[in-house]
Amino acid sequence: MTPDLLEDGAKRREAYLAKQAAALTIGESGGQAASFGRVVSSTGEVDTAHGGILYVDDITVSFDGFRALNKLTLNIAVGELRCIIGPNGAGKTTMMDVITGKTKPDSGRAFFGSNIDLLRLRESEIAGRGIGRKFQKPTVFEQLSVFENLELALKMDRRVRASLMHKLSCSNSDRIAEMLKLIHLKDSGARTAGDLSHGQKQWLEIGMLLMQDPKLLLLDEPVAGMTDEETERTAELFLSLEGTHSLIVVEHDMKFIGELVNGGQREKKKIVTVLHEGSVLAEGALADVQANERVVEVYLGR
Ligand code: ADP
Ligand code: MG
Repeated sequence: MTPDLLEDGAKRREAYLAKQAAALTIGESGGQAASFGRVVSSTGEVDTAHGGILYVDDITVSFDGFRALNKLTLNIAVGELRCIIGPNGAGKTTMMDVITGKTKPDSGRAFFGSNIDLLRLRESEIAGRGIGRKFQKPTVFEQLSVFENLELALKMDRRVRASLMHKLSCSNSDRIAEMLKLIHLKDSGARTAGDLSHGQKQWLEIGMLLMQDPKLLLLDEPVAGMTDEETERTAELFLSLEGTHSLIVVEHDMKFIGELVNGGQREKKKIVTVLHEGSVLAEGALADVQANERVVEVYLGR
């Protein structure tokens, strides 16, 4: 094939993918759809010189007078894997809504690194600055192949967009191949995403998030509905991201939390945060949190 024909082929493929993306619905939450495809300013990289990736300070969110978050304060270090637990209604999802710009709080402050004021940015801008969010339900393009899903996500990469690089270059296919391996879908690139198991769809969506090279990943109940084996492999995946990414993982599955806390970079003591009634009830080593009377009373002891 001549270079011209190759280019035509690439253009057609791109137009096809763009059309598919526009035509498809991407699940219920709309969160990812909301950040996909919008032009996002990527100026101003996050400043983490002080070692922090996220500073949530004294945040209050009220719904008709009910405080879903009540003076919530939470700091996350660069490269940290933070587990957050707590009963239903504690405010865990609302906290993620505030960090990602879906909900604006009544009061408080939230900074990404030391320089990016999250409360001043729109949801799509926050995604563009490098905060990726995984909702509870898998939201992948069911009709496309696993490979095409990752390819689409790559095209939405904030840096790829910024450098106006359009073609799927060799290094990009390498990146997709690497991602397939990382998310345990090495031999499934050609499969239709809709045919994957629930757990595999969750991994694919995590892969799609990672293609956009987020600095901070928020994962809301990522192993709900997974088999035991899928849950273990998800723990391995998150542990392999620790250090190069910062992660906030909300989960009820205490076995999974134990795997995250005890695996990976063990020299670093991992912190577990317990949310209750919109505030931090306890924070510290898993064993200490599990022994905390108030935590047992409101959550673990049920
Ligand atoms: P969690 O994720 O810890 O289970 P949520 O953050 O989803 O808790 O919810 C915290 C509280 O805020 C719950 O009582 C919930 O009913 C309430 N809530 C969350 N979102 C809204 C909303 N949009 N309108 C009214 N109440 C809400
Ligand atoms: Mg929730």
